Amino acid sequence: MQRCEKCKNKFKYGEILNSVWKGYKPIKCSHCKTNHSPITLTIIITSLLLVMPAFFTKGINNYFSSTFNSIIFYIFWVVFSVGISPMIMRYTMTKKSK
Ligand SMILES: [Zn+2]
Repeated sequence: MQRCEKCKNKFKYGEILNSVWKGYKPIKCSHCKTNHSPITLTIIITSLLLVMPAFFTKGINNYFSSTFNSIIFYIFWVVFSVGISPMIMRYTMTKKSK
């Protein structure tokens, strides 16, 4: 999991999850109050992961052979991809000159 670039304080899983959930909001280190912005590449990776099943709807529907099962799969997929996103997300310190 990501650490603060300034004081090496470890970000909590919940803090990152909260940031992702609120639309990739910057994270403020709970220890030194330094703001960290998400790195665009990791936003792209986690968003792609989230929408991935949308590219394979036909295959997924065929595989599960019922709409109900496919919907269950999508729900699990969303929970899964949001759940692992804190491990993928990387943040970088934002300069205070703003
Ligand atoms: Zn810190």
